[in-house]
Amino acid sequence: MYIICLDMEGVLVPEIWIAFAEASGIPELKRTTRDEPDYNKLMQYRLDILREHGLGLKEIQETIATIDPLPGAKEFLDELRAETQVIILSDTFEQFAKPLMKKLGWPTIFCNTLEVAPDGAITGFRMRCPQSKLTTVKALQSAGFQTIASGDSYNDLGMIQASKAGFLFKSTDKIKADYPDIPAYEEFGDLLAAIRRAMEGSGAGEAE
Ligand SMILES: [Mg+2]
Repeated sequence: MYIICLDMEGVLVPEIWIAFAEASGIPELKRTTRDEPDYNKLMQYRLDILREHGLGLKEIQETIATIDPLPGAKEFLDELRAETQVIILSDTFEQFAKPLMKKLGWPTIFCNTLEVAPDGAITGFRMRCPQSKLTTVKALQSAGFQTIASGDSYNDLGMIQASKAGFLFKSTDKIKADYPDIPAYEEFGDLLAAIRRAMEGSGAGEAE
C-alpha cells in the first residue's frame, strides 16, 4: 500500500515567507530552505528579523490570508487523493497552514508549532521531531506503507531518497543539477503521471 508524501511550500502553495517578505517590504525574509539547508538556523534568522521589526503572528497571518494555492494544486491533490493516500509533510507551522489547508480541501498535514506570546510575538518554534520529513517517511514504512515523495528543496531530499520513488517538483536549477538522478517535474500533470507509474511498479522514476 502506498502513501504519497508531499512538501507544501513551493509545491502546492507559494512560499509563505517570500510572500511575507514582499508584503512587509523586508527582503531579508526571502531566504528559504532553498537557500539555507539548516532549518533551525533559518528559523532563528527569521524570528530575529521579526523581533527587530516588531512583527508578530497576526501580521504574517494577514499575508497568508491573501495567498492562494498554486494553479492546479487543488485539482492535483483531489485527483491523487481519490486514487491513494496522501500526506503533506511540511516544515511550516499549524498557525500558518490552516487557511491554506482550507483552500486545498483539508488534506492531511503533518507540520510543526509556533510558540506565540500573548501579545502575538513569535517567541520560538517546536519541531515535531528531528528531520521530520525523513523520520515520518521511515515511520510510515515501518507501518507497512511504501512511500512516494516529492518536494522542491534541500529538506525534501531525505524523504525523496528514502522512498520507493521520489521526484523533485518546481525545484531550483542548482538542486536539479546537484541531484541529476532524481526525476524533476514542473507541471502537476507530469508529477501525477510519474506517481501513477511508480505505483504501477513500472520502475520509471524510482529513486533507489
Ligand atoms: Mg518546499
